Amino acid sequence: GRGGPRPAGQGAGQEPVRSGGLPEGVEYIPTRKKGKNPMKPVGVAWYSLYARTRLGYLFYQRQVKKARERYPHGHSVPQPYCFPGVKILPIPVLSNNYSYLVIDTGSSQAAVIDPSDPLAVQAAIEEEGVMLEAIFCTHKHWDHSGGNEALCQKHSSCRVYGSALDAIPRLTNPLADREKVAVGCLTFEALATPGHTVGHMVYVLDGGPFGSPPCLFSGDLLFLAGCGRPFEGSPETMLASLDVAVRLGEDTLLWPGHEYALECLTFASLLELDNAALEQKLQWAVQQRQEKRSTCPSTLGEEQTYNPFLRTHRPELQEALGLWQAAGEDPDAFRARVLKEVRRRKDLYQAT
Ligand SMILES: [Zn+2]
Repeated sequence: GRGGPRPAGQGAGQEPVRSGGLPEGVEYIPTRKKGKNPMKPVGVAWYSLYARTRLGYLFYQRQVKKARERYPHGHSVPQPYCFPGVKILPIPVLSNNYSYLVIDTGSSQAAVIDPSDPLAVQAAIEEEGVMLEAIFCTHKHWDHSGGNEALCQKHSSCRVYGSALDAIPRLTNPLADREKVAVGCLTFEALATPGHTVGHMVYVLDGGPFGSPPCLFSGDLLFLAGCGRPFEGSPETMLASLDVAVRLGEDTLLWPGHEYALECLTFASLLELDNAALEQKLQWAVQQRQEKRSTCPSTLGEEQTYNPFLRTHRPELQEALGLWQAAGEDPDAFRARVLKEVRRRKDLYQAT
């Protein structure tokens, strides 16, 4: 064995498992090259090393160090987002990750989602003058969980939430699907969204009490116009997880784990040539990024107009990919096929 929990597909959509014990699609290597993609298609063993061994941690530490040198003030200009009683502060970390500090402004209690770089998160905590009560970790990858240890040392009462299926550093409170957690007046709901990793979870902040829409902290499940790689799950599993997100409703604000808008929108526009919403969002994103502004949040309603990973049911996308539903083919099985093809093309696009 490789020492970690064995990746599992879900339900009937079990995928072919290779001799190495990892599912199809697990073919990525963390490279040491500078560039926007920390992973590159090379070999099964490398993903295992990154995700499950000390080597991965060393690689992560190097990433943190380099990013601090390259972006002393972060890769993007942080833009706090406030509604009465709540403040959401995106913290740009590493070369394209976001951690989020979510503050109950009444009690100054706060939670952080995916603290990759503990120094950047600690600086925000001090700047805001808040108490860190909880860390919500979407998944085990170091660029989302690497700061847990240091922050827990500094904030001894801080709880660490996440799935027990992922090896999350310092996990104190394993969560079940749909479990709710209160931090001050804030209520977060955890939703199991496997695919990128077996234990991937997203967190939904209930906006109801504050008269705001729900806020989805999506980790590596969903990005603006993009979707995380299914390292530990089949296309069927990933599709089911994306459907979980979509069911949150169109007004839901999307706070993703990475600033990938430009490359994702560019890729999407190569797939769908005649999509006005996509064209418009791309132009907007170009503007935003020229000024180093963050592109989040978008809404799930918007995402469904341009994000190809959420458009597997759309005939225009299916046609653009040259895919047709076979007679008698289950609609979800067909959508999974569409998703797999979008993913394949995205990986090819990124490899070039
Ligand atoms: Zn990840």
